[in-house]
Amino acid sequence: MKVIVVDDSLVMRKIIVNVVESLGYEGVHATNGKNLLEILEHCGGEVGLVLLDWNMPGINGIEALKTMQKDSRFRAIPVFMISTESEDAKVGEALKTGAKGYLAKPFTPEELAAKIKDILG
Ligand SMILES: [Mg+2]
Repeated sequence: MKVIVVDDSLVMRKIIVNVVESLGYEGVHATNGKNLLEILEHCGGEVGLVLLDWNMPGINGIEALKTMQKDSRFRAIPVFMISTESEDAKVGEALKTGAKGYLAKPFTPEELAAKIKDILG
């Protein structure tokens, strides 16, 4: 199963992909929302989870989430927001838009692993 890791920071993507792969999933890098949507077009059926940064140039995390929710092919794929935008209103917006969960930076690899296990069981 593929887990798409969407973040404009290469360092952050590497940290998150390491956690994903330590759990036995295939981590796929996406650099922003546009890149995520391109990857979904090509291999959406193999994607079990999207870990989505909020702040990115171009199509940001919440915009990409809204686009996924409008597309019947991608609506069922769980999305987990990872962001420094930890204010309550932002968390609420992400969950209302359809995110399955939310993790604020900075986080430990253990915290992220626990959240991924919660979602993928
Ligand atoms: Mg970012």
